[in-house]
Amino acid sequence: MNSQMISGATRGASTVEGRVSAGAEPKRASVPPTREQAVSGLVVIVEDEADIANALEYNFEREGFQTRKAATGRAALELLGRDPLPDLIVLDLMLPDVSGTEVCRHVRMNDRTRHVPVLMLTAKAEEIDRVVGFEVGADDYVTKPFSVRELMLRARAILRRAHASEVEAGSGEQVFGRLRIDSGGHRAWVDGQEVSLTALEFRLLTTLMGRRGRVQTRDTLLEDVWDMSGDVTTRTVDTHVKRLRQKLGTAGIYIETLRGVGYRFRAQLDE
Ligand code: CA
Repeated sequence: MNSQMISGATRGASTVEGRVSAGAEPKRASVPPTREQAVSGLVVIVEDEADIANALEYNFEREGFQTRKAATGRAALELLGRDPLPDLIVLDLMLPDVSGTEVCRHVRMNDRTRHVPVLMLTAKAEEIDRVVGFEVGADDYVTKPFSVRELMLRARAILRRAHASEVEAGSGEQVFGRLRIDSGGHRAWVDGQEVSLTALEFRLLTTLMGRRGRVQTRDTLLEDVWDMSGDVTTRTVDTHVKRLRQKLGTAGIYIETLRGVGYRFRAQLDE
């Protein structure tokens, strides 16, 4: 049934460290970072295990995506520092040099790349790793060994959400007390200071804000913000809300916890 299980557990010494797949070279420099480029679907695959990287490349390209591969964290950062900007980064956690979490952090800290969705690959199934992955700003994760079908489903869900929030967003600007958000530009400010939010955090914030004064259960948020249940747990919601609150600083109090129920964005400032 699971015909295409890919395991990251075993691999020989013949890794492809230190090089970026040659297949991507000729096109890269000449492609301008146009809007068309962004919607055509470019996936950057950061994975040091060649078998996995090649399988992902094959499957994404078969579905009409363009791909670029990087076999080390450093190669990934170099690739991401250049145009065109990808629509999705599939990022392995265990890389030979710069770790996946470190790459993810860089992606999120950089203005240019911070809204690019990241799908993390990890060989470790422990909850802590999942949480760490989310805290550095991954949008979702897949645990090795994984089925390519499952990964493609998740990738498509992420891309669909990213696209939907783009379309939905328009150019609306909303202000609530200390908080100002620009849905079109995916930007948020607290007391005039820009807050760096991941795509997922931004979606969580706009979802809560758009339903001001209404309690949102964790399940509702999972469904509407994460767009799938799978093995994403309600604890994931808590982790993200906590993180979002921290980032919002003094505006974090606008998001209230209703113990045992869920979360609510304040209806009014002076509540
Ligand atoms: Ca690896």
